[in-house]
Amino acid sequence: MNTHQVIVCGGGPSGITAALAAARNGAHTLLIEQFGFAGGASTNALVYPWMSFHDLRGNQVVAGIAQEIVSALQERGGSPGHVRDTIGFVRTITPFDPEIYKCLLDEMLSDAGIEVLYHSRLAGVEVETGRIQAVRVLSPSGISEFSADIYIDATGDGDLAAMAGNPFVMGRKIDGLTQPMTMNFVLGGVDLEEVKAYIIAHPQEFHSDTPFNELDRLPLTGVSGFFKHWAAHGPKSIPRDRVLFFAGIYPGEVSVNTTRIIRRNGTVAADLSAAETEGRRQVALLSEFFKNHIPGFKNAFLSRTAAKIGVRETRHISGKYELNTEDLMSSRSFPDRIAHSGYPLDIHDPTGNALAHQEIQNGLAYEIPYRCLLASDISNLLLNGRCISVTHTAFSSTRVTPNCMAIGQAAGTAAALSVLNRKNPDEIEIRKLQERLIRQKAVLKK
Ligand SMILES: Cc1cc2nc3c(=O)[nH]c(=O)nc-3n(C[C@H](O)[C@H](O)[C@H](O)COP(=O)(O)OP(=O)(O)OC[C@H]3O[C@@H](n4cnc5c(N)ncnc54)[C@H](O)[C@@H]3O)c2cc1C
Repeated sequence: MNTHQVIVCGGGPSGITAALAAARNGAHTLLIEQFGFAGGASTNALVYPWMSFHDLRGNQVVAGIAQEIVSALQERGGSPGHVRDTIGFVRTITPFDPEIYKCLLDEMLSDAGIEVLYHSRLAGVEVETGRIQAVRVLSPSGISEFSADIYIDATGDGDLAAMAGNPFVMGRKIDGLTQPMTMNFVLGGVDLEEVKAYIIAHPQEFHSDTPFNELDRLPLTGVSGFFKHWAAHGPKSIPRDRVLFFAGIYPGEVSVNTTRIIRRNGTVAADLSAAETEGRRQVALLSEFFKNHIPGFKNAFLSRTAAKIGVRETRHISGKYELNTEDLMSSRSFPDRIAHSGYPLDIHDPTGNALAHQEIQNGLAYEIPYRCLLASDISNLLLNGRCISVTHTAFSSTRVTPNCMAIGQAAGTAAALSVLNRKNPDEIEIRKLQERLIRQKAVLKK
């Protein structure tokens, strides 16, 4: 059996920051990832840009390792940094090149001395008296066992917690439905100046928060609308009411977030298979629709589709506290806060074509308490990223990448403190965790 101090399952935004934080705070750390590269949905599902490192007033509320990643990408020409969101949904968005990002992550993980196991999928968990003893991992060489003092579930879907028998809620409590899946794809050959000119001339056809008065001075970073074009020519079999896309970091390149697959469960292989196929069917329809009907896309071509379908929502694992909408909307202060977020509620309709959006009161940030990371029934397990303990509605805000990165840094730091002090995660001193996070510039004061 291979033993470590901390095992992180899943190498997405929350897993990489958790592994980096655990290792940099002195814990011998293993990262287990099913694909041959890290980054999670940012790389395997072509989910970009990141949104948002800022609240609506423009205060930066996510920093730490997440900001370090952005700065390193900027140095390599892999990101312009934080730029204004021309949809007006959030204050800033952060585009990046997923390929440069993959290489950067390999280097960062290696520099921190993290043992990385790619092509390894969590296949089982040994639990005794409410404590994980070991995890079983399936790789091309068969099934191997690994053990650690502390485990971090960064699989997004909460696979580790679910396999360990910790209770969870699938999607929304009333019916178990989740936000839809989306197959993102990239179109090249787009004339973004023509798109922008059309928006300026036809503001009523776009999302009402678009900063129309500033558009001529801003690079076009995102577009939500073309409502008229969609109603007249949009493929009727796709449950959406608009076109949504974001500029890439290279000229003429956009990432399209417009496919929608509803009523599928992202933890069931048959549903995932059907969603992958349906996602690519929609990509083909949309590529033609864009070329034939959207201004600026006459010469567009399909550059690539994501390696896997983007799964927004699955299990919400039960923790010691369940963050709810009221906590977010009132910016409730928690004594055990470990991260802030300025992202609004953002629900892609689980049953149809709607998109519900609600800003946090007064454009402020809200706090995420440490108790949402503590698994309710397993004493040496920390929840992370997409699968922390939140309601379906609160999740529509906590789910985005910068938040998951911030939560990951807290989870990794807490895991290291637990190991170094020989305590369970729910026994460590919150003040010490917060002090470390502040020292490492992870939690910014409001
Ligand atoms: C379609 C879509 C659009 C989105 N749009 C945006 C956006 O515009 N901006 C934004 O900031 N956020 C966006 N998000 C949200 C964001 O991408 C995710 O919520 C975020 O990536 C979650 O991070 P995570 O680390 O919790 O999980 P993930 O990114 O899902 O990473 C989980 C990792 O664990 C690995 N893994 C999973 N199960 C196992 C297993 N059993 N064994 C081993 N490895 C495993 C996966 O391969 C993956 O690398 C979007 C998400 C989707 C799906």
